[in-house]
Amino acid sequence: MSSAFSYPYLEKILIHETTILRRLDELAWEITRDFADRGDLTVIAVMHGSLFFVADLLRRVQLPLRIETLNVASYDGAASTGLIRFRQTELPDVRGRQVLVLDDILDSGQTLHAICSRLQAECAPAAIRTGVLLNKVRPRVVEVAADYVGFDIGDEFVVGYGLDYNGEYRNLPLIGSLRAEYIAA
Ligand code: 5GP
Ligand code: MG
Repeated sequence: MSSAFSYPYLEKILIHETTILRRLDELAWEITRDFADRGDLTVIAVMHGSLFFVADLLRRVQLPLRIETLNVASYDGAASTGLIRFRQTELPDVRGRQVLVLDDILDSGQTLHAICSRLQAECAPAAIRTGVLLNKVRPRVVEVAADYVGFDIGDEFVVGYGLDYNGEYRNLPLIGSLRAEYIAA
């Protein structure tokens, strides 16, 4: 079991890897059950934050599916800009398909809202559902709720298991919060 001692830049560890993977077993079972008879499924992974979440989750889902990625960014350092930038011009072809959008964390709601709105308006999917590893319990800027949630957390900035601070810490196997001195003032 990892300790904060192994990660001197962490203030605390919120969710250990074993806890994450146990929860993914449950989510994968729900997704397998829910999508079994619904038709062709495309999972859209919101990059880069959902990288590990999607990889670990989908290896537990026992369904035929396609994986696409969308490269979207809204954070500058440890604060949301509120501006959702799509870093690619083409959206995946999901016409007539069941779509499951997976992101690392639901915070203000603007990212998932922007993605689902664009997919709905431009890609003619049969249906769109959403899943996040983490759900920040806070008032949303845009009203969205994820259909699948790994864990509820408080309103604090977290890193690890895909989530970054200025591009770093994504490869930590756990979710933690950074010590103040590692966050630029
Ligand atoms: P929203 O658009 O819901 O405010 O934020 C979603 C995006 O902001 C996530 O995809 C993630 O990239 C980023 N984000 C929100 N909260 C955090 C956080 O606590 N830590 C990190 N590393 N990224 C976050
Ligand atoms: Mg993101």
